[in-house]
Amino acid sequence: MHLKIQYLLTVAITSSQVSVQSFLLAPQPPSTHPIFASKQDFLENSPYWSRENVLVNTYKNKTPFIGKVVSTKRIVGPKATGETCHITIDHYGKYPFWEGQSVGIIPPGAREKDGKPHSVRLYTIASSRYGDDMTGKTVSLCVARANYWCEELYAEDPLKKGVCSNYLCDSSPGDEVTMTGPSGKVMLMPEENPNTDLIMVATGTGIAPYRAFVRRLFEEQTPAAEAYSGEAWLFLGVANSDALLYSDEWEAAKAKPTANGGKLRVEFALSRENTNKKGGKMYIQDKVEEYADEVFTKLDNGAHIYFCGLKGMMPGIQDMLKAVCEKKNINYDIWLEELKKAKQWHVEVY
Ligand code: FAD
Repeated sequence: MHLKIQYLLTVAITSSQVSVQSFLLAPQPPSTHPIFASKQDFLENSPYWSRENVLVNTYKNKTPFIGKVVSTKRIVGPKATGETCHITIDHYGKYPFWEGQSVGIIPPGAREKDGKPHSVRLYTIASSRYGDDMTGKTVSLCVARANYWCEELYAEDPLKKGVCSNYLCDSSPGDEVTMTGPSGKVMLMPEENPNTDLIMVATGTGIAPYRAFVRRLFEEQTPAAEAYSGEAWLFLGVANSDALLYSDEWEAAKAKPTANGGKLRVEFALSRENTNKKGGKMYIQDKVEEYADEVFTKLDNGAHIYFCGLKGMMPGIQDMLKAVCEKKNINYDIWLEELKKAKQWHVEVY
């Protein structure tokens, strides 16, 4: 009860975009799960799939939230092409968010070029609203250390380190983190139709929102998990097996179908270890293409498709989808427009 009041106060003080009155009047969902009995009161909408109270920009650049790092862990093997870390931040229950949203992080310090404060960087949330510890008080991120090496341009000091990703990957428990958001509604799950198939396509840290989805559907006792009867199909593209992210979690989730028969299916595209049908490197679009017929049938039947990760993934994906459409005598532009109109097409690339 104490937490609920605290949350309502936060909403009332910080968000002008939410109808606080309707939230206060909303009936509370029934709590059928003992673990979540107290938490559902303030972390689930009523009905649970309603988007009425999805908060956006609760915290802004001028009124940010200060969280505290709980843990920072390297999650790739020694032969990965770069470093990726899983970072968990304590928000004390004051930063409610939905799976698929992003956190803004303002790194400490000032810009070299003009001494102004650093600008905000976005990170898609990698935990469900309950957090990895299921307290509803933490948020986790999946961050790739963004380093750039150029001897031609910077002969004396060729390593240029990305400010915010290095700050986060170097953070230690107890460090304070300046946060804005949560932001974005593009990557939310279509929970209103629990039989919807999800096709989740990621490169690298683009896996973050899908980890949140998979936890919500297969790991946690949520009303969304109880209702889910579709197939959640994950495609993850990375360089090699050491760069795979959260693979033990996918294995565990695959072994745990939901009560209604919802299940997880996983495909990996390891560009430096696997070859595509033409004998070239296996990129994410090649792996999706292997299952093109099934993907198209699922989309015809209302599946939602998500793309998340590096911007560079989309041209290859689009070319592949165009080629498949041609083979199937489908007009690609109309096909895509229809998917977008039906809100089945979700893209968050950076
Ligand atoms: P910056 O300091 O902003 O530098 C950017 C790049 O330029 C770096 O690669 C750096 O090495 C290079 N650079 C720096 N100085 C120079 C120079 N002098 N010359 C040439 N190059 C230079 N990232 C994730 O890791 N995980 C996520 O889940 C994630 N989600 C995102 C979601 C959204 C919606 C968006 C928009 C972005 C997301 N990002 C994510 C990307 C993230 O926001 C940052 O852009 C990324 O971490 C790099 O920020 P940085 O401060 O480390 O690098």
